[in-house]
Amino acid sequence: MSGIVIIGGGFAGVWSAAAAALVRGESDLDITLVAPNEDMVLRPRLHRLVPEWSRVPLKRFLEPIGVSHLRAEVTDVDTEARNITADDQLLSYDRLVLAAGSRLARPAIPGSDLLYDIDTAEGAARLAGRLNGTDGARSVVVGSGFTGLEIATELAERGTVVMIERADTVAPDLGPGPRPQIEAALAALGVEVRLGTTLTAVDETGAHLVDGTRLEADVVVWTGGMRASLLTAQFPGERDRLGRLLVDRRLRVDGEIFAAGDVAAARADADHHVIQSCQFATPMGKAAGHNAAADLLDVPLVDFDPDPYVTCLDLGSAGALYTTGWERQVQLDGAQAKQLKDTILDVIHPPLDDAEEILRQAGQQSNGVSG
Ligand SMILES: Cc1cc2nc3c(=O)[nH]c(=O)nc-3n(C[C@H](O)[C@H](O)[C@H](O)COP(=O)(O)OP(=O)(O)OC[C@H]3O[C@@H](n4cnc5c(N)ncnc54)[C@H](O)[C@@H]3O)c2cc1C
Repeated sequence: MSGIVIIGGGFAGVWSAAAAALVRGESDLDITLVAPNEDMVLRPRLHRLVPEWSRVPLKRFLEPIGVSHLRAEVTDVDTEARNITADDQLLSYDRLVLAAGSRLARPAIPGSDLLYDIDTAEGAARLAGRLNGTDGARSVVVGSGFTGLEIATELAERGTVVMIERADTVAPDLGPGPRPQIEAALAALGVEVRLGTTLTAVDETGAHLVDGTRLEADVVVWTGGMRASLLTAQFPGERDRLGRLLVDRRLRVDGEIFAAGDVAAARADADHHVIQSCQFATPMGKAAGHNAAADLLDVPLVDFDPDPYVTCLDLGSAGALYTTGWERQVQLDGAQAKQLKDTILDVIHPPLDDAEEILRQAGQQSNGVSG
């Protein structure tokens, strides 16, 4: 038997591995996780600019539960022959879980290689390194979505910040619910917001905007949104505008293939698809891993049934905002929400070195934070 192969070692990948190991029990099913990195990266921690705090050794999660880690990057998937190419190795599978996550979509503008980001641990380390020892850093943050707001409010602690937004309102994708509190927090922190404008070029010391303005800056941070891994293009079936594969209630793409996390557009409820977030990637991983193993071992499959949607947005020294529902109704703000954000940033760290605890959590579908 070739067993289960999981592509990706983020939230979706590691929890797929653990859920598959839970279903496997004493049987001899092989489970292999393929990811190039030695560490899982807790991307929701990256805006705090302490990159080491976001790294989790995969070995200490996978070894105790008997899952092999192949450190390699998958370049090709042959769904007819049921194999993948990972670096120079050909690996066959009986069931495949695609959990290769997402990457920041970068703009094709002059100087784009000078842009900073907090998409990866390396990106956050580069930004933190540039800011170290810079008193009163001048930052330009491009984009006022979730990531833009979290990094802008963090950078406001270190100097001046100008936030650029193409739309004519701040945080357009978060809707009107939390906007008054967001605007108040940005004003309190002295973040200058420029609406209805875009970045056209970057140079060593500044940002150029579409209206001809040039802003002097030590760092220009791009937060333009995440796109699903390009590996999704190698699978059959439809993809959405973020490049995510459409999956059914059991997170099946097709035949022997399941997908979870930022590569998969699953229904969260009757009216909404999941948002690319660890909040959804974790339970999706658990459901996909369970189903991949259950399908092979003749055990009942489960439907993906996530907790109600919530957000918890860090706003630097202005606190945080906790919202519930798709209208994002504010339930907590200020210091109380900040305390909840800190708790969330703690609990997303997976348990290590403890097979019993890892498998116990793999069997829980709820994230424990809800409305
Ligand atoms: C700055 C920032 C802040 C965020 N804040 C929040 C938040 O507050 N709350 C929240 O819920 N979500 C947040 N998110 C989103 C969240 O981090 C992602 O939705 C989540 O990481 C998705 O998990 P994933 O496992 O699907 O993918 P990822 O975390 O992207 O992991 C993908 C894995 O696949 C591996 N991989 C990729 N390509 C290949 C390949 N070709 N071959 C082998 N392996 C491959 C990668 O190395 C990695 O191990 C934030 C994201 C960022 C960037």
